[in-house]
Amino acid sequence: MEPTYEILALRYALFNDRLHFQNFIIPPDDHASIDPMDFYIFAIRGNGRTIVMDTGFSPESGARRGRTILRTPAQALLDAGIDPTHVQDVVLTHMHWDHAGGMAYFPRARFHIQQAEMTYCTGGCMCEPFLRRPYDVEDVRGAVDALYSDRLNIYEGTKEIAPGISLHLIGGHSGGIQSIRVPTKRGWVVLAGDATHYWRNIRLRNPFPVVYDVGRMLKGFDILNGLADGPDHVIPGHDPLILKNFPPLGTNTEIVRLDLPPIA
Ligand SMILES: [Zn+2]
Ligand SMILES: [Zn+2]
Repeated sequence: MEPTYEILALRYALFNDRLHFQNFIIPPDDHASIDPMDFYIFAIRGNGRTIVMDTGFSPESGARRGRTILRTPAQALLDAGIDPTHVQDVVLTHMHWDHAGGMAYFPRARFHIQQAEMTYCTGGCMCEPFLRRPYDVEDVRGAVDALYSDRLNIYEGTKEIAPGISLHLIGGHSGGIQSIRVPTKRGWVVLAGDATHYWRNIRLRNPFPVVYDVGRMLKGFDILNGLADGPDHVIPGHDPLILKNFPPLGTNTEIVRLDLPPIA
């Protein structure tokens, strides 16, 4: 029998003043309406392993962009009983500032990334300020440092990194964004990361405006749907509904269990 895992979404930051038109290419009638964004890291645990997905942003980087940090991603993990200094495996969905800014929290980890993302964030596309905007060069340097210290695994497409847990190249949002498929007691759950920021992006097929290849982003929606056991099994990267729709971990309402069925 396939092993199953617990999955946690841990909120560490907010962006409450974000506007609706910043989240969808097809704009709403009311351009100025508020549409908040949450920032999460995710953790998968079970069968003697803990795998963290993404590392969050650093407080300095958040302050530079006016995002409100509630707690560091490291503290969020500690609140769930996970010591980041002991984590062995961290999946980098992609190298954007709010996903790759906390690599230093994981001094013992091996990082897992797609070849296409490394090529993208170190290649000619970064000559274009629009494409470069969501990246911080310190983070890209950190990935190169990890590479040269034997702490970066680079994949070309689908890869099983633990029994039942696989990485899938999606692309679109960035050159080589990847998502994670995890077996749980409620079936196959897919942690999409920024392959869909909100449930509305994938369900209404209305892409998020930070995008490299909008055609690939739309095809990516099909890949995500194909990998998951249903619409509630695709978990978006930044949706405040995550905290509302899933049961909390104990009494901590900033951390929810995604391996359990939704409560809303
Ligand atoms: Zn992103
Ligand atoms: Zn993001």
